[in-house]
Amino acid sequence: KKAIVIGSGLGGLLTAAQLAKDGWNVDVYERLALIGGRFANIEYNGYQLSTGALHMVPHGTDGPLARMLRALGADFEIVQSTPMATVRMPKNAEETDYKNGYEDISYLDFKKHLTSKNKLMMVLLTLGFKAGIIRPTKVGFKTWYSKYIHDDRIDRCADSFTGWALSTTADEVTTREVFKIFNNVYTYGGPGILKGGCQTVIDELVRILSSYGGTIHTKSEVTKIVVKDGKATGVVVGGKEISADLVISDIGHKEAWEICEIDGVEGESASHVLALSSPVFKEYEDKLAEMKPSAGLKICFASDEQILPDGCSLMLTPYTRRINGLNEVTIADPNLAPPGKHLIMCHQRTALDKLDEIDEEIELGLEDVKDLFPDKNVEILMVQVHHGRWPVNRAFSGTDFGNKTPIPNLIVVGDGAKGEGGIEIEGITFGVRDALKIIKN
Ligand code: FAD
Repeated sequence: KKAIVIGSGLGGLLTAAQLAKDGWNVDVYERLALIGGRFANIEYNGYQLSTGALHMVPHGTDGPLARMLRALGADFEIVQSTPMATVRMPKNAEETDYKNGYEDISYLDFKKHLTSKNKLMMVLLTLGFKAGIIRPTKVGFKTWYSKYIHDDRIDRCADSFTGWALSTTADEVTTREVFKIFNNVYTYGGPGILKGGCQTVIDELVRILSSYGGTIHTKSEVTKIVVKDGKATGVVVGGKEISADLVISDIGHKEAWEICEIDGVEGESASHVLALSSPVFKEYEDKLAEMKPSAGLKICFASDEQILPDGCSLMLTPYTRRINGLNEVTIADPNLAPPGKHLIMCHQRTALDKLDEIDEEIELGLEDVKDLFPDKNVEILMVQVHHGRWPVNRAFSGTDFGNKTPIPNLIVVGDGAKGEGGIEIEGITFGVRDALKIIKN
């Protein structure tokens, strides 16, 4: 049986490698010359920068991605961040920035800085959550906890965590999604950095795919998904139709839907015809219209000195103007920078309505770097804005609607089809696992 995968991002390659291992004849078509999508390294002056990810695996060495990679036979190493994170707090509790000094604390010590009442409330909420007494709701996380706790420190830390992990504010993500994420942290553990960066995983997946006979065609954009009699029958690449029994989209629901040619009718008019003819398609189109991508901005810089404590590669920065957090990836793997240099990757959530004023957002991020590290010799290496078709997430965490499309053998994987509770690539792994189950049944 033949499967075609559109896109060589992490979701596409994980699915392709597993299908090839299961005996499918697999062809991956990638629009760019580069393989790996937003999970590939970019070499710059001896620094391993990236096309997207901060080289971080959210649940580390025992998380869903690591487990799936091991089951596939991949060779890779993840260095856990210990403790999970450092939080940079202003030196004096009443201050709202770092200008008069700061204190770096382990995230475990965060509670010590709260009032006794809020400390007690946090303990009660955590116990209630663990015991299953607190029922997660679809209301925004901040709206929910604000019913119980009022503390500027908690608000800032919540925004810093969700901004860094999901590229949303703490109120743009539902309480239900945050609870599922916390549950996964309890189950699998915290983050780690990939030795060699994202590229090691991509290279391994390419190796595994080829070892089972699969092929990746680069510079090969899929311009149409051909649908006949209600089924995907193949794709069009370079004007040529290629038939398949199964089509996997690693380019998101919306993008795949836009290029469907249904019984000879293309693009918007095709979906319009279907939407009118069946409530299933109408419902799908309505869901697509609601799906919102999350945008973000990444600043990579080099330092002559190590910034974070030994072993801890992640810092949350709740008192900046924009930067939510950063990974000092060379703590885990010094080879990600030239000898004697340290590589730091900062991330800031970017509101969709600020994309028109992106220069100002960049300036605010760069000001943050100066305030965070006033006494360090910092060299800015690269600033990247992620939005549109190269976003941080194709759908806000917890809002996508899984792998299925109204066309039975057109399945979506990747960050537009993660399901609930999975941070970034861990969510992609959950989505791939679910997609493979759908395919097997
Ligand atoms: P993509 O990587 O987008 O791959 C899709 C591929 O399809 C691309 O290569 C594209 O060129 C190709 N394509 C598109 N259209 C076509 C077409 N018509 N025909 C053929 N090919 C096509 N996650 C983490 O877990 N840890 C992190 O540290 C982390 N940090 C991040 C930081 C930033 C700034 C960003 C942007 C993302 C980050 N993420 C992180 C998220 C993670 O990078 C993405 O979730 C993941 O890489 C997305 O993989 P994907 O398979 O969904 O799709």
